[in-house]
Amino acid sequence: MTDAPLRLRLDGAALVHNWRTLSERSGPAACGAAVKADGYGLGARDVVRRLREAGCRDFFVATWAEAAAVADLAPSVSVLHGARPEDLSDARRWRHVRPVLNTPAQAARWRESGGGPCDVMVDTGMNRLGLRWDAPATAFAGLEIVTLLSHLACADEDHPLNALQRDRFAAVAARVPAQRTSLANSAGIFLGADYRFDLTRPGLALYGGVPCPAAAGLRQVVAPQAQVLQRRRMLAGETAGYNATYRAPADQELAILNIGYADGYGRGFSSVGTVFAGDGACPVRGLVSMDLLIVDVSAAEVAEGDWLTIDYALDRAAAASGRSQYELLTGLGSRFDRVWL
Ligand SMILES: *Cc1c(COP(=O)(O)O)cnc(C)c1O
Repeated sequence: MTDAPLRLRLDGAALVHNWRTLSERSGPAACGAAVKADGYGLGARDVVRRLREAGCRDFFVATWAEAAAVADLAPSVSVLHGARPEDLSDARRWRHVRPVLNTPAQAARWRESGGGPCDVMVDTGMNRLGLRWDAPATAFAGLEIVTLLSHLACADEDHPLNALQRDRFAAVAARVPAQRTSLANSAGIFLGADYRFDLTRPGLALYGGVPCPAAAGLRQVVAPQAQVLQRRRMLAGETAGYNATYRAPADQELAILNIGYADGYGRGFSSVGTVFAGDGACPVRGLVSMDLLIVDVSAAEVAEGDWLTIDYALDRAAAASGRSQYELLTGLGSRFDRVWL
């Protein structure tokens, strides 16, 4: 199926390059991959297959449905949202797919249902998921912990909570027996060697996101492309799109593209987004519609049926649209054909 009027061009070599770069930056620590939310919108199975071939062994998903989708491909899967009572039969199905236990009740449930390999999340200051860092030893007792994890709240900033979380996690790791320890997400990898522990867990940076200014050398993986449904000329003084928010100062050549906010190209790109026709930059004119986009192609040769590439360099697109790089990836809709290079 490759005949939808919009597609995601996905660069598999860039994905692998990014993982290798992050793996190098992880030093002696192993480098895993967060593939929750369907591989940040790229397609988890396609991502896992490529990264496993590159040497990645440890994959992180949110839910058991996400785990089931990649269990046959991934050597090791950690399910970040833990094991509710209704998850237990899934959680007992594979030994290489482990719950990340987050609460005392989950830990008790795991012990009582037979124990076995599991991961444990420790909350070191984010107040999101995980056992508190100052929980008594009994909270962790009787668990066969493969990976002891914590998650940084501010890794993408220079913030005092980073060092505090690192020190709390090191203290927990010293008293709770586990095969290995893991703290750093994408941005955490760039905070320094004392944040890497045994295993890093990048997500965003794998997919071409720029987690922090220090993260150089990562390549863009995702490029949305949309087909031109119509070419038209707008005359000086006329307006374009809903609510007539854009008025042409001079005659303009327009192309109407098959993409809109229902595809994840949000209203934040109205009048500020850019689309490329080859090297020619074409500005978005007026409001983004649900399924359509109006761009000014006066500076390029564009015909009905041509494919144009949306500027989706994640740091730049986030700054332009006011949405986070994570939202830009995971918000990409279901109407795209996914085409891997
Ligand atoms: C999503 C997530 C990651 C990956 O974070 P990025 O910022 O995308 O690198 C790592 N660990 C946990 C617990 C997560 O929820």
